Amino acid sequence: MSSNGLKFTVLGSGTSSGVPTVSCKCPTCISTDKRDKRLRTSLLVQSETTNVVIDTTPDFRQQMLLYNIDRLDAVVFTHAHFDHIGGLDDLRAYNYTTKKAVRIFANLQTIERIKRTFFYIFEEPEQIGGGIPILDINIIDEAPFTIGDITFEPLPLLHGKMPVLGFRIGNLAYCTDTNFIPETTIDKMQGLEILILDALRYEPHSTHFNLNKAIEVSQKINARKTYFIHIAHQILHSQCEKELPEGFYLTYDGLTLYT
Ligand SMILES: [Zn+2]
Ligand SMILES: [Zn+2]
Ligand SMILES: [Zn+2]
Repeated sequence: MSSNGLKFTVLGSGTSSGVPTVSCKCPTCISTDKRDKRLRTSLLVQSETTNVVIDTTPDFRQQMLLYNIDRLDAVVFTHAHFDHIGGLDDLRAYNYTTKKAVRIFANLQTIERIKRTFFYIFEEPEQIGGGIPILDINIIDEAPFTIGDITFEPLPLLHGKMPVLGFRIGNLAYCTDTNFIPETTIDKMQGLEILILDALRYEPHSTHFNLNKAIEVSQKINARKTYFIHIAHQILHSQCEKELPEGFYLTYDGLTLYT
């Protein structure tokens, strides 16, 4: 069991509406810079033998096709907001190719909310023929769990009033959708090479860190490098990255990181 030698790919770096935002003509939404094209936030975690995706965004199908993810060992969920679960139905594709259930890992609250949003997956079928994803549900709490040879340590966070999970995977921590990290979680984030953290926009927000707050919290965590994610259209990549302190970066779709 090891979490060394892992590859991480940012499958989406955008906030819930994606960037460009439909019908918006702001400088970021009309930018031709590829780094300003943001699918909904998701991360691919890969070892030599194991592929895990964190969250199934509404862009999940497109993300799996873009990054040639032909094999998926499991999905791990942070929370049940639609921008993190909307692509769940497209897990069917892996049922077809493997003839097996897809393993999903989430805490009880997230599973219960997934069952409400995707009610038809969990009810007696009304008729034969409608395809539904076949899932192998694994309920997690705060204890570390292992998928293949990759160990995930849950990191409890607050997203407004809602408890959500980040994950520590070896020397990388992934904390999207949060505006508060409890001290007990910060204790679990010592000695990080890489922190990927929510930073929505410049202005404050009630459920997400803004850039200044994200920088302040990151300095306390003190990872070697910090990358911001879940980025809204108020942030133009080329302009914002020039303003960041040393060791701080913006993620962008397709960014790969190694530990
Ligand atoms: Zn989100
Ligand atoms: Zn815009
Ligand atoms: Zn959210």
